[in-house]
Amino acid sequence: PTAQSTVTPAARRLIVLSGPTAVGKGTVEKQLLAAHPQVWISVSATTRHPRPGEINGVNYWFMTDDEFEAKERSGEFLETAVVHGMAHYGTPLQPVQDHLAQGVPTILEIDLQGARRVRQRAAELGLDVLYVFIAPPTFDDLARRLASRGTETAEQRARRLETAKTELAAESEFDVVIVNDTVERAAEELWHVIVAEYGIDR
Ligand code: 5GP
Repeated sequence: PTAQSTVTPAARRLIVLSGPTAVGKGTVEKQLLAAHPQVWISVSATTRHPRPGEINGVNYWFMTDDEFEAKERSGEFLETAVVHGMAHYGTPLQPVQDHLAQGVPTILEIDLQGARRVRQRAAELGLDVLYVFIAPPTFDDLARRLASRGTETAEQRARRLETAKTELAAESEFDVVIVNDTVERAAEELWHVIVAEYGIDR
């Protein structure tokens, strides 16, 4: 048998993509999906309001605080976090388990608190996880990204930048570090990681 056929789908690793706020995790992930549609990116639940153009069930599952809390209580989330002291975010567990069981390359794009929660629960849930950190080329670059996004108030941006400073230090907790110098290059590097993990035949 080939090396590939001895790997059972259930043994395949969940890929957790994290990094400082506004480092461009979401953009790298979208580029990866556009270039390699065979990957599945988990759709998170959130209590924040949709931004213009965002679609329920595509970008996020948008829900009220009450709906979110009910799901949290009934154990439907793999991890949850309050991001930037405002909204709740959570990863629905069942779809992650279903995709992994089918051998689909499965990716969570979550904040660092979420990555830590996954780390705490992985053994209990029988999940094998590869932790990938998306890093900015420099801190100034991160500050520029934060300023240019334009979807937040100055106060929200200042708060995100403070968070980002401490978040940069978390790099050492991760298995793989990908520098987001250009989104295409970073997405291809991530793809190479996935190919190696899943034994995908290019
Ligand atoms: P945004 O509101 O800009 O879409 O996302 C804000 C932050 O929430 C990002 O850093 C993103 O990675 C994080 N995030 C999105 N979904 C989840 C989730 O399910 N769990 C956790 N812990 N963080 C998430």
